[in-house]
Amino acid sequence: MALTEFSLIQQFFADATQKRQDVIVDIGDDCAVLSCPADSDIAISIDTLVSGIHFFPDVDPHTLGHKSLAVGLSDLAAMGATPAWFTLALTIPSLDEKWLSAFASGMAELADQHNIQLVGGDTTKGPLTISIQVHGLVKKGAQLQRNHAKSSDKIYVTGTLGDAGAALQKRLASWQPEELSEKDWSFLNKRLEQPIPQVNISREIQPFVNAAIDISDGVLADLGHILEASGKGARIYLGKIPLSSSLQKLDKAKAWQLALNSGDDYELCFTVPAEHVQALETLNLDIQQIGEITEEQKIVLLDEQGQPSVLDITSKGYDHFV
Ligand code: ADP
Ligand code: MG
Repeated sequence: MALTEFSLIQQFFADATQKRQDVIVDIGDDCAVLSCPADSDIAISIDTLVSGIHFFPDVDPHTLGHKSLAVGLSDLAAMGATPAWFTLALTIPSLDEKWLSAFASGMAELADQHNIQLVGGDTTKGPLTISIQVHGLVKKGAQLQRNHAKSSDKIYVTGTLGDAGAALQKRLASWQPEELSEKDWSFLNKRLEQPIPQVNISREIQPFVNAAIDISDGVLADLGHILEASGKGARIYLGKIPLSSSLQKLDKAKAWQLALNSGDDYELCFTVPAEHVQALETLNLDIQQIGEITEEQKIVLLDEQGQPSVLDITSKGYDHFV
């Protein structure tokens, strides 16, 4: 039987993810109905990925399903919210069962890791576009915001920076430095195509954090948003920027440039008051202190010899409209 819109939803999406107890009305009605605990608020965020702009049209649909949800989960992590539910608006050029099945399984695997349930959506025909709206729960008043950084807070990032940017530069600019092996490229491509949202770290750091953001446009641009919202500046020690073993093989200036300015990392950047640093460090998380918040509204980058370069606080990340 030919696939119709209705059977498509039944086959690929209605039971794609694990069911949660707090879903009162699931996929199949006009709306989903969800129950929120009395001590929590709901954090929501939506992201759209357009073929040819946010991903290569020939990308593996399984990894695309993963990434489409990962970017939303990263936003929830940045707010300190626990993933709960999501909706999917899918625009596809044709009913390609193989593609749909791989896309749905990539999305569902990540969803089940984080106990987030697909509770509704919309399906239309047109150029391939994926919008996912995520909903998370956050204890009242406990959300992490961009505008709460304080002077002398320590600045931290999770994971390593610049890996996705390196993979992207190879694809877009045929950049292929001889220091990097096939193994490096497969690692870097994975970082680009299947980012791991830092939901678990978010939960652990929450008690210690003043301000947080996820790094989607490069740490300088995203830290810049924290600084702008908080009316502060920052001092960053370049030698402390965490680099993967692949990026460490590159010329330092190149690796730093990728780490500071390229997008798609989906790591977290957050600030911690000095009195919480010790408690945070004893948790042994995959985090690295890279600098501190300052009063004056500028970013000072210090190289390993202590030589400063000063930046205006203007967004240097990816801008869709320029
Ligand atoms: P309506 O016409 O009421 O909007 P639809 O035919 O668009 O209903 O959708 C029927 C049901 O399937 C709804 O519960 C909707 O949330 C769900 N749905 C539609 N598309 C998707 C999708 N891509 N993923 C998950 N649920 C979907
Ligand atoms: Mg609809």
